[in-house]
Amino acid sequence: MRTVQCWIENPVRKLDQTYTYTCMEEVSRGCRVKIGFGNRTVTGFVDSVSETDETVQQLEERLGVKVKPVLEVIDRVPVLNEELYDLGLWMRDMTLSTAISCFQTMLPSKMKPRSRREDTVRERWVKVSDEEVKLTPKQLQAYEYIREKGEVRYSELRNRFPNQAKALLDKNALVSYLKEKEARDIRADIAAPSYDLTPMQKQAMDTITGSDDAVYLLCGVTGSGKTEIYLRLAQEAIEKGRQVLILVPEIALTPQMIERVSKRFGSGLAIYHSRLNPQEKYEQYRLVSSGRAGIVVGTRSAVFMPFSDLGLIIMDEEHDTSYKQDNQPCYHCRDIAIQRGRHHHCKVILGSATPSLESYARALKNVYHLVTMDERINDSLPDVTTIPLRDTIRGGQSYILSDALREKISARLQADQQVILLLNRRGYHANLRCRSCQDTVKCPHCDISMSWHQDIRKLKCHMCGMEMTLPRKCPSCGSTEGYSAGGIGTQKLEDEIRSCFPMAQVLRMDADTTSKKDSHEKILTQFGRGEADILAGTQMIAKGLDYPNVTLVGIINGDEGLQRTDFRSCEMTFDLLMQASGRSGRGEKEGEVVLQVYDPAHYAVQCAARQDYLTFFKNEMKFRHAGQYPPYVYMISLTSSGKTQEEAEKITFALMEELEGSFKKIGVITLLKIRDRCRSRVILKGKDLDEMRDAVRKFLKESTLNLNSLKIDVNPIYLD
Ligand code: ADP
Ligand code: ZN
Ligand code: ZN
Repeated sequence: MRTVQCWIENPVRKLDQTYTYTCMEEVSRGCRVKIGFGNRTVTGFVDSVSETDETVQQLEERLGVKVKPVLEVIDRVPVLNEELYDLGLWMRDMTLSTAISCFQTMLPSKMKPRSRREDTVRERWVKVSDEEVKLTPKQLQAYEYIREKGEVRYSELRNRFPNQAKALLDKNALVSYLKEKEARDIRADIAAPSYDLTPMQKQAMDTITGSDDAVYLLCGVTGSGKTEIYLRLAQEAIEKGRQVLILVPEIALTPQMIERVSKRFGSGLAIYHSRLNPQEKYEQYRLVSSGRAGIVVGTRSAVFMPFSDLGLIIMDEEHDTSYKQDNQPCYHCRDIAIQRGRHHHCKVILGSATPSLESYARALKNVYHLVTMDERINDSLPDVTTIPLRDTIRGGQSYILSDALREKISARLQADQQVILLLNRRGYHANLRCRSCQDTVKCPHCDISMSWHQDIRKLKCHMCGMEMTLPRKCPSCGSTEGYSAGGIGTQKLEDEIRSCFPMAQVLRMDADTTSKKDSHEKILTQFGRGEADILAGTQMIAKGLDYPNVTLVGIINGDEGLQRTDFRSCEMTFDLLMQASGRSGRGEKEGEVVLQVYDPAHYAVQCAARQDYLTFFKNEMKFRHAGQYPPYVYMISLTSSGKTQEEAEKITFALMEELEGSFKKIGVITLLKIRDRCRSRVILKGKDLDEMRDAVRKFLKESTLNLNSLKIDVNPIYLD
């Protein structure tokens, strides 16, 4: 008799174990099955298959439970191959998540355990039939076209031969059939690079190709030619017949990047990111599993693509926070990439101008092979001016555009060059404050101030998205004295630019202008074509853009991020300033950067102004050491939520009491309410991450509390 052990689709922690069923049909690991569970029918995920001489009765006696039969085998071929299946289980261990949540994260939604094959879209295709039929000359032309191609999509036939398509079918000259819809291959004419590598690039290439090390940290200032190195390394892997994965941050997957890659490789390219719809994702996934795509460019989840022979993994801007998944399983793409590199025996290149402190510290310890490129290709770092906002505002200047920045913008516009202005907050005003009680208007569902959005004339919560009209009476004190506005957002910036430079064409890019599919690409393409003079936006414009005509970058409120209490706030601020400055002067023309800041003496500001990563690293490491923060210690953040604070704290108090080990427990911390959920947190800090994980695992196993609201984040990025 055959039995299968399977995971249940329900991602509840208490059910995170395999259950035994009998099975009549052939089935293998990684296939989905329908099974009865309790009194419901659910999808199961086969973990292992075994043959036994026992009868059902004997089996039930041995296991002490009733053993039911599998109702239906859904997949003949596993949806996850051996490598990916093991990767899922590894991820379960690393992130302390349920196995099923890991498998679900790894698969495109159309292939998730819950989904069915029928969900996929199919298209009608035609080919010529064996029947001999009489055709008109026009019909014959269409017929010949199909015969030559072998088969064509019916939709294509109808486009080319609108009057013949149906007639050919009616005459039985063609047979038609359905096929699963496939992605069209991106085709570009191959354009070899028009330049040789610089000596510095060549040295970096030689170091990487000449070494047997597995993981490299390519630390190179923006514009030092890292992308060119990625492409050449990719070329080598492709020529050896192996596959390549290029990972990029969530919003850096610009038309520019895709164009650069597709021009180099011509075709066989898959593109995978969160803005694709489920069908598009599925098609791109199939491009890889069917072996038709040799190179994948994608964001975080592309790291789970079904490669068969991966020859190279590149992770661009490896410090970017979008590589970390914020819900369960809270995995970091870098860890997964390195694990896959291990399996495929291929090199992993982590690239950045501002590596995460964790990665740079590892490189200094030779865990990663450090490769440095400290000059720009055009040999000129932008000229940086720091504007002390306190002084300029006291002197009566605008708190949005200081006089100096305004003059520089004006000069660039006159020279027909382009300007990027960055303000890392959307909306018009950050908050509205009651003139009587001084309280800001808060979201009814979250403990945070709502922002004023001038375009829709509404308050908006940037946490939960709730919108509301301005309350006539202050929600706190009932006063009708009205409100005063505080803080500026990109909408206000846009207004200010338009009033200062009425002749300039302005584009704004933030979460509000890019909510529609493709709108993000549209704005960037427009700006790239020179259809606008000024691009204003949030941090989404700071990454990966390469426009030779941009010669001035202004950062409006450069050190606002330093006000956050998070231990990474300096690192995040430094990264943002460095990345944004890197957008200027990338072409022939000299570039300039203006940093408007409140604290010009802060080391994050000073080091960014000098594009000096190393000094920043040394300073920041001192601070991390003093506060015992990563990379000196590991952390696990355990957050529970509930309708009331008391409910949320049930789990955190239990954690404080029951977790035992050589690590520190910090808690119980009360967090802001979000989406009507009160939250409570415990943080573990220690040198031995395995010990910390084991302690949490023991708690999960032994606790009698309902743990469904517990979010576990191993090596968290944000703690606010
Ligand atoms: P990074 O990825 O480090 O920011 P890029 O690879 O985008 O740098 O290179 C910056 C600019 O220099 C790009 O416009 C690129 O086309 C150009 N470039 C790269 N390598 C060379 C080279 N060897 N010779 C001339 N130009 C180059
Ligand atoms: Zn009030
Ligand atoms: Zn809210």
